[in-house]
Amino acid sequence: MDHLGELFDVAVIGGGPAGLSAGVALARALRSVVVIDAGGQRNLRAEGVHGFLTREGMSPRQFLAAGRAELEGYGGTAVTGLVNSAVREDGNFVLSLDDGSTCTARRLLITSGSEDELPDLPGLRERWGRDVLYCPYCHGWEIRNQAVGVLASGSHAVLQALTFRQWSRDVTLLLNGELTLSPGQREQLDARSVKVADGRVRGLVVQDDKLRAVTLDDGSAVPLEVLVVNPATVSKTNMLEVLGLEPDSLEEGPGTRLHTDDSGLTSCPGVWAAGNVTDVSAQVMTAAAAGLKAAAAIHADLVLEDTRLAVEAARAPAR
Ligand SMILES: Cc1cc2nc3c(=O)[nH]c(=O)nc-3n(C[C@H](O)[C@H](O)[C@H](O)COP(=O)(O)OP(=O)(O)OC[C@H]3O[C@@H](n4cnc5c(N)ncnc54)[C@H](O)[C@@H]3O)c2cc1C
Repeated sequence: MDHLGELFDVAVIGGGPAGLSAGVALARALRSVVVIDAGGQRNLRAEGVHGFLTREGMSPRQFLAAGRAELEGYGGTAVTGLVNSAVREDGNFVLSLDDGSTCTARRLLITSGSEDELPDLPGLRERWGRDVLYCPYCHGWEIRNQAVGVLASGSHAVLQALTFRQWSRDVTLLLNGELTLSPGQREQLDARSVKVADGRVRGLVVQDDKLRAVTLDDGSAVPLEVLVVNPATVSKTNMLEVLGLEPDSLEEGPGTRLHTDDSGLTSCPGVWAAGNVTDVSAQVMTAAAAGLKAAAAIHADLVLEDTRLAVEAARAPAR
């Protein structure tokens, strides 16, 4: 690809809300920027984006298409492809893509998002983002007053059940052999009329393309319309191994994240990160905001470098 032959000011790995927002900000700062995206944004299975002021209910694909159009409208470059590796060469970053092309940039922004590792139940993955959910702020309103089951994979499930109780009076905590309730937790659940089902969940009952129930190992079924899970959220950072950047384990639960400072700068000079790859709780709006913030920090860093280079050039004796 010819356009990947130039030296970009900034290469962005990942074209979700964080990467596109950063790309637009950098293009508007008259920086040459390329956003490389493999396609696979975290919310693509959902019907609409919720909680993004002025874009309520917009389909994720429309949202991304609008973001790419804005990026290109300001002269940024959007490329479809998977970055396999990033290495440092002569002070720049060289990215290798899966189609064999390379791309070189002065600075790198990682907005590659995270992978949700879903519970291993037959048919569950197919319902993800529809009636198998995790985020009350993304879907709570849409599923209000429905029969909700919370599939326990640890003690966090108690708080999840109490949280979803805000949206529905019909909430069942499915202990799934993963959780033993303390008397205090039982008291809290009882006080909020959250039901508790013992036994391991063996499968989902789906009819007419809708979740109807889950089945337990004793053969009984718990009628449900929505199943809430708590997936491990693992940051997508394989391409950074050569740079020595590895994610840390999450403190709040299973999963990983890339550690950064407040501006998004990682421990590797010249490399920033934003969005779910560094903050698993970021939603579309906050991921986009983090991309914008990192873009400003990268731009400021380039201003300083451009100034240093200009001073050196001005001081150099004329030939
Ligand atoms: C089912 C579901 C529904 C959701 N609904 C909502 C909602 O209604 N409202 C809301 O605010 N939030 C919602 N979210 C959360 C939302 O999806 C995330 O907040 C948001 O996607 C994070 O944006 P991001 O840019 O950090 O990552 P992503 O949107 O995941 O984008 C990362 C991109 O980087 C790409 N990538 C990864 N590795 C590479 C590589 N090596 N080379 C090139 N590209 C790469 C990925 O393929 C992906 O396209 C939902 C999440 C889920 C799971």
